Amino acid sequence: MKEGWEAVIGMEIHAQLATDTKIFCGCKTSFGAEPNSNTCPVCLGLPGALPVLNKRVVELAAKAALALGLNINETSIFSRKNYFYPDLPKGYQISQYDKPFSSDGKLTIMTAERDEGGHARDWKPMEIGITRMHLEEDAGKNVHEGLPETDKYSYVDLNRAGTALGEIVTEPDFRTSWQAYDYVNHVRRALQWVGASEADMEKGNLRCEANVSVRKVGQKEFNTKVELKNLNSVRFMQKAVEYEIERQIEAHENGEEVLQETRLWDEKNNMTRVMRLKENADDYRYFPEPDLQPLKVSTEFIEQSKNEMPELPLPMLDRFQSEYGLSFADASQLVAEKDLAEFYENTVKVSKNPKVSANWILGELTRELNNADNSASDSPITPENLGNLIVFIDSGKISGKQAKEVLIEMFDSGKTAADVVKEKGLEQISDVGEIGRIVDEVIAKNTEQVEAYRGGNQKLLGFFVGQVMKASQGKANPKVVNEVLRNKLNS
Ligand SMILES: [Zn+2]
Repeated sequence: MKEGWEAVIGMEIHAQLATDTKIFCGCKTSFGAEPNSNTCPVCLGLPGALPVLNKRVVELAAKAALALGLNINETSIFSRKNYFYPDLPKGYQISQYDKPFSSDGKLTIMTAERDEGGHARDWKPMEIGITRMHLEEDAGKNVHEGLPETDKYSYVDLNRAGTALGEIVTEPDFRTSWQAYDYVNHVRRALQWVGASEADMEKGNLRCEANVSVRKVGQKEFNTKVELKNLNSVRFMQKAVEYEIERQIEAHENGEEVLQETRLWDEKNNMTRVMRLKENADDYRYFPEPDLQPLKVSTEFIEQSKNEMPELPLPMLDRFQSEYGLSFADASQLVAEKDLAEFYENTVKVSKNPKVSANWILGELTRELNNADNSASDSPITPENLGNLIVFIDSGKISGKQAKEVLIEMFDSGKTAADVVKEKGLEQISDVGEIGRIVDEVIAKNTEQVEAYRGGNQKLLGFFVGQVMKASQGKANPKVVNEVLRNKLNS
């Protein structure tokens, strides 16, 4: 960012809550169903149909709120947000306005600026103010592609109308595009972690918008902000924010006015484009929804929700470093996904070797999983089996090199480490007596080299190790071979 300027960024995230049915009716929320098949009089907005709040929405929203450091309000009110759009059959959206489900959150995220190559440097904690998370229903979708005569007609699919959303709004606390990027990823992972949302941007069940303005460093008041929409991935969001910061700084410096408008990210041209100018604040004429009671949650419900919360990624990141002695980088990678973190802890229970377990999971196993396009939860190697493989290495039963071969075979066949080692006849020879016999043979066959070694040519040790390994068909434990050779050659 240009010297002397700073950006002011606030984020809004719409997350679809992972319920099987919609927020005010029993229609399915399944993705990819026949258009308009998951509908009923309530979500079609037919006269006289009455909404009934889905209890599961409240349970998942509580988990989401707690995962984001929000306070759950004991009473919240559903309101009508009035506007007209073809994908909104009622002419209003049921949302929450002045009394949201949850508010006043403080959320700590980890964030880092990136270098030219996009590599993070120096991760630091940052506290973000989360203004609120309120509940609302989603609208339907206008379809402009893939149907007959789209030059003449627009189509409306109302399958999505009435799907439960949590809208998460932050304070304007971000100063760089990477902070916003790290925040969205944090929220995505947190929602998945507690099972509140699939939070998959490709499926559209997590959507984000950014409000961006810039000001001179030291200036207190905000300049006019621009709203960025149509951000289909976290990376596009970051690029759009970055572009917008530079565009606005340039406009201010050239004495041009930055207009209050909504802009879209144009992926092809790598720039933001105006979608619409906002001359006035939107007037949605909110009023309390007369067909729904205020939503009251008991203190017992809130307490129970708190008790059911799993350990969250950031406390787990700290614990992995202190309890297992892992580096920040390794611990961060392991807590990137809940399944992976659980896989790791279950492996350590068996292997009793936290560092080596982290190396194998983040190295060999992750590579095999990526090749097979699998995640830790579909790994053909169970944590117990991987733990046993690591025990074999630590006890000298097999070498690290052999273990790599064993792991690939375990991955392909689903067999245990013990079975693969047995079948392949890989068992490493660590028995001092047995190795001693091989060493004696090698010494007897190479009298010239033995003399040279004893005469001071220490480099020949490598030669003897090679001979012993060859004689044992690679099965001798190199560490034991070295020890026995030194003893016998020096005696
Ligand atoms: Zn319905």
